[in-house]
Amino acid sequence: MSFLEVSDLHKSFGGVRAVGGVSFNAAPGELLALIGPNGAGKSTLFNLLNGQLTPDQGQILLAGEPLQGKSPREIWKLGVGRTFQIAQTFASLTVLENVKMVLLSQSNQLFSFWSRAAQGPNPRARELLAQVGMEDQAERACGELAYGDVKRVELALALASDPKLLLMDEPTAGMAAGERHALMALVQQVAHERRMAVLFTEHSMDVVFGFAQRVLVLSSGKIIADGDPQQIQQHTQVRDVYLGVGTT
Ligand code: ADP
Ligand code: MG
Repeated sequence: MSFLEVSDLHKSFGGVRAVGGVSFNAAPGELLALIGPNGAGKSTLFNLLNGQLTPDQGQILLAGEPLQGKSPREIWKLGVGRTFQIAQTFASLTVLENVKMVLLSQSNQLFSFWSRAAQGPNPRARELLAQVGMEDQAERACGELAYGDVKRVELALALASDPKLLLMDEPTAGMAAGERHALMALVQQVAHERRMAVLFTEHSMDVVFGFAQRVLVLSSGKIIADGDPQQIQQHTQVRDVYLGVGTT
């Protein structure tokens, strides 16, 4: 069964049709890449899924339940998570403190962070760090971590809400090839272990074709192809519109 069912989704801004009739499903544990040229509608689609934008038309079902009329926070509570960059202001906090802070903010207990919670042990925070391989760096300040490790912590922060669908907008932007692959291998493992679907946008074709189980190709607000990496690479229209001649 699909956790996410999107049907005939539309969103326009003034005269600009950003998303024009998008339908697709995502199953638990599935890693889905969303690719397409700039302006194709990728970010708009993400914002429709997380409730930041309301569709003009169409339906989104989460575990069979329509999202219509729900606020971003309600949608987040239903299991749609997203990754955020660690704000500059929190770079001086340790890795563990950042995770604890997110856990507390989710239970509306942030006020207690500065008093007691920051000192005591927190098994849940440590468990999240263990899942992303950062337990041994728990006491380091986020500001002094390697870039690839910051991304691991950001993943742990996103996992704190136990999402069933994780949205990642360009998760590997600015990373070297080796780091990109390490991060996506981790995402793959975590998605598998948690049976969590992941929808990610990505410009690096090595990541798309190396890690996605399925690829959705968006062009001018429409999905022009939906298939496994091999099918997408052989898709004539995709090669013409997006991949270009000579791209593998
Ligand atoms: P992508 O993320 O694939 O680059 P976007 O979803 O950001 O594409 O944009 C799709 C189209 O919608 C573009 O033409 C963009 O200019 C337009 N668009 C996106 N957001 C807005 C907005 N808030 N107001 C007006 N136009 C927008
Ligand atoms: Mg975008």
